[in-house]
Order: sequence, then structure tokens, then C-alpha cells
Amino acid sequence: MSALFNNYARRSVHLVKGKGTYVYDEQGKPYLDFTSGIAVVSLGHAHPAIVNALKEQSEKLWHISNLFESPEQEQLAQSLLKNTPLSRAFFCNSGAEANEAAIKLARKHTAKHVIITFEQSFHGRTFGAMAATGQEKVKLGFGPMLDTFRTIPFNDVNALEAAIDEDVAAIMLEVIQGEGGVNTVTPAFASKIQELCQAKDILCIVDEVQTGIGRTGTKYAYEHTVLQPDIITLAKGLGGGFPIGAMLGSEKLAESFGPGAHGTTFGGNPLAVAVAQTIVEHVFDETFLLSVQQKSRYLIERLKFSLPANLFEILGEGLLIGIKCKDDVTSIIKLAEDQGLLIVQAGPNVIRLLPPLTVTEKEIDEAVELLTTVMLVPSE
Ligand SMILES: *Cc1c(COP(=O)(O)O)cnc(C)c1O
Repeated sequence: MSALFNNYARRSVHLVKGKGTYVYDEQGKPYLDFTSGIAVVSLGHAHPAIVNALKEQSEKLWHISNLFESPEQEQLAQSLLKNTPLSRAFFCNSGAEANEAAIKLARKHTAKHVIITFEQSFHGRTFGAMAATGQEKVKLGFGPMLDTFRTIPFNDVNALEAAIDEDVAAIMLEVIQGEGGVNTVTPAFASKIQELCQAKDILCIVDEVQTGIGRTGTKYAYEHTVLQPDIITLAKGLGGGFPIGAMLGSEKLAESFGPGAHGTTFGGNPLAVAVAQTIVEHVFDETFLLSVQQKSRYLIERLKFSLPANLFEILGEGLLIGIKCKDDVTSIIKLAEDQGLLIVQAGPNVIRLLPPLTVTEKEIDEAVELLTTVMLVPSE
């Protein structure tokens, strides 16, 4: 019997070591890691710059709390905010916490309580973030939910127009729904959101927990759209495996988060900030981002060449790529794992590929070859 709660359907692989795109189990069997710990290990496993940043900081100072000033948080905030419409940052420890901060800030600033979210969205597992999430399976057994959220079909302009009234504080979306099936916002829908937000003084919250920090080939995924967010939330790739989350907001929101309005003990802790600063400096480099775009095109081309278009649809952007299949993909994921390739599901029948942003073309070749072997073999 396990001493752990059974809340995860864990795979029976015990990984003990990682380097770059590879991880190794107890027996030393290598696996190509196209999960990156769910879009987290952005610079690959054991990247020397990250290891050094953590080592150096660990010998100086681990934790001081937010009772004291932090030029390090200031610097990280400036790096994250540069060339965005936003000018303020708040640091926390996870994606759900970043979204909680966003929900609280939107309600406080507008003095309204309705936030529009979308079906198949995922915003986290805490009470507010869970209620925001547009997937029934996430909420099952935990009701009644907060009545803040009005969840409507994604990319449905008519449903959106119909959902707007004077109680609406914000519209909250993922530009690409990661957990929900790698569904990208359509240009028409993004335009409508932007138009309504501007016309009705509604806040636009973009949940970039999965899509942010270079994952889609740009610093943030909203850059692919016409959206001008008032709030962005971040986590996953920001810490490369060290827990950290962030909420970025526009200047007009600053007064609503004054002293005592919100907080966290660990958020923006020196260890997390040192690691995140190193990651952001690497990933936000123009040449690095161009390399992510290049590798993305390569991966998509290879997939389209190897997988018949009548059976498989390629979705996503950058290195957040989905392969939409006709049937459930659970067995493919298991077969790939046996062959030494780690991948993850999104929605019921989408395979999600999330390699580290440092993946090489050779590793992409290997992964596509393994994947096509297990996907095109007729199952008995
Ligand atoms: C993973 C995820 C979250 C939740 O992040 P946690 O760190 O697990 O709390 C929120 N939003 C999106 C889009 C995510 O992918």
C-alpha cells in the first residue's frame, strides 16, 4: 500500500537523472524527454548556467520573505516586463497561485465579480483557479463552485457577445489551451476579445502559465495575436524546474494591489529568482527565440511528412505541438515510453509534444522516428 494519496495516475518509471533532452531511469535506460516535466524544464535538464545560478545563490541567501526589499525581484520583473504593455510584477510559487492573484486583482480593481472563461481551459487546482477551469472533470465532487466564472465555448464570437454585461470584470484565456487539447485562439476571436475589452473597460487576462517564456517561439504567446493583455500569468517554464510563478499587470492596476492587499511567504524567494533570472536572460535572447521558431518549423515539417494528414492533424505553435488523432492516445503514450520517448496527453485524443527549448534537430529526428513507429504500427 502506498503512503501517498492516489491523486495522480503515475507512470511506473522511476527517473533519477537528466541531461539536456534526456532523462534516465534507475537501470540507466535513456528516454528522450518530450514532456519537459509538463513544459517546465525550458533549458533542458541540468543546464550548467541554471545549476550554477542555484549553487551560487544557495551559498549566499535562501530566504528572507517579502518583509524586505528585493532588487533581485525588481531586476527579474524588469526583464519580464520589457517590451510588453505591462509595468508591474508579483511573484508567487505556481501557476494556480498566479491565477489566484489575477482573479483577486481583477475583482478588486473593477469592483465587479464576473470573469469570463472558456470550455476546455485549464487554470489550476486551487479553489478560484479550479472554478475558472472549463473542464468538468477538474471540478467533480468539489462543488458548489465560486460563482465568479461564466464559462462559454472557446472561439465562439456569438457566445462571447451574449455573455457580456455590466457585471463582467475580465475575460481570461489561454492563447493556446495546453491541457485542453492544444486549441489555438482564432484571429477573429482574439479581435473580438480585444474590441470588447476596450469598448467596455473589461480586463484581458492571458494565462501564459504554459505558453509563456519562449514556449511558442516568442517571449509570450499573446504576441502572436492582437491581444493587449492587462494581466499575464506565468509559472511552468519560468523556473526551469524551480517552483516560481508570476503575475504581470498594467500600470492602471497598481493601486489596487497596495500594501497588505495580497501576499505569499515564499513568493519571489532568492533561490527561485536567481534561477528564473538566468532562464529569462537565456530564453529572451533574440537569437535563442529564432532558434525555437526554426526548430518548431522543423518538427512540424517532419511530423507532416511522416504522419498521413487524413489521420493526424498537427496543432500548436513553437514547441507546444499537438498531434490530433482519431482515437484515444493512452496506448500510444505507453508504447512510446517503452521505446524511450516521453510524451504527454492533451484533451482526449491529442498527443502533446513539449521538448525543452534547447532540443536539437537530431533529437527531433529521433523522436519523430520513434513516434511514427508506434503510431503507424497497426495495433493488434
Ligand atoms: C499548468 C497550468 C496551470 C496551473 O499551474 P500549477 O503550477 O500546476 O498550479 C495554470 N494554467 C495553465 C495554462 C497551465 O498549463
